[in-house]
Amino acid sequence: MRSLILPRALGRQAGGLVWRRAASSAATAPAATPALTHPVVYHDDFTINPIPDGHRFPMPKDALLYARLRQLGLAGRTFRPEPPSADTLSLAHDPAYVQSFLDGSISPAAMRRIGLPWSEALVQRAVIGVGSAVLAARLALQFGMAVMCNGGTHHAHPAHGSGWCIFNDQAVAARAAQRDAGIGQVLFVDLDVHQGDGTAAIFRGDPSVFTLSLHCAAQPFPHSLERSDLDVALPAGTTDEQYMQALQEVLPPLLARLRPQLVLYNAGVDVHAEDSLGKMALTDAGILARDRFVFAACAAAGAPVAAAMGGGYCPDHERIVDRHVLLHRAAAEHAPALAAAGAAAARAARRS
Ligand SMILES: [Zn+2]
Repeated sequence: MRSLILPRALGRQAGGLVWRRAASSAATAPAATPALTHPVVYHDDFTINPIPDGHRFPMPKDALLYARLRQLGLAGRTFRPEPPSADTLSLAHDPAYVQSFLDGSISPAAMRRIGLPWSEALVQRAVIGVGSAVLAARLALQFGMAVMCNGGTHHAHPAHGSGWCIFNDQAVAARAAQRDAGIGQVLFVDLDVHQGDGTAAIFRGDPSVFTLSLHCAAQPFPHSLERSDLDVALPAGTTDEQYMQALQEVLPPLLARLRPQLVLYNAGVDVHAEDSLGKMALTDAGILARDRFVFAACAAAGAPVAAAMGGGYCPDHERIVDRHVLLHRAAAEHAPALAAAGAAAARAARRS
């Protein structure tokens, strides 16, 4: 299989029809094995490691995940993002905050809240990380789904970052999709073990974006929670069965009621029993079942879905990668079913 690298296509271009330009590349997409064809978003800048070894944030995992996907034959349709403009970043963030981080004038206190040391390398990696989410959303509207090898920076608020999150990648992606593709209702399905507090804060009062956060009530972070449109707080020690029961109760009815034109999925694996930070007790099989259920439910509802990696913590990074690969396995299985959702989204956009 060969990789498909999109030409320069991101950023604001004439007429705001950026994603439609990409749609024309569908004709040149490689005819890969159906069971192994899901669009993957990756950029070599994810290998930049701007923090010291031993830091608790597992910065190398994005690149390790992509290397594993290549080994497994799951990266046959790779798309490369480009950095979004400051205007695009400001769709979900205060422009002064965006500028202060980009130019390094951000205060030491604000960087302490993020928990990472400022550097030009960190800027480069953070910005391309948002570009990945923007591209994944655009690809989902074209192909029905796309999966990032990074991201899920859901603790970034409108005017400050926190919890290793600088910009809220999928929040920017939601607004960029609304701006560039003219879509209406967006649904966030945030299944990271931590509450999606930044996402909730960004979209508070915005009826065009519904935020669902299903998280563990016993996490010490975020220190103070925001109110999502729907919060489902589960206890410490939640098992595979308990988790799936809660998810099955909330997700299909939401999809039926909202009929979202785009689902943004945070597939954090810090719900795993052996995660260093998470307090739930899911197994590998439970995470795979969860990810399969999300894709199947979205396919049944005809809703395109763009997925971010989300959190996952373990001193042995290869163990984290084992868990993040599960999302890509589930994605590969459901890519054919979701392709119809992408085709419908493309038709709807052409009519708008
Ligand atoms: Zn998390």
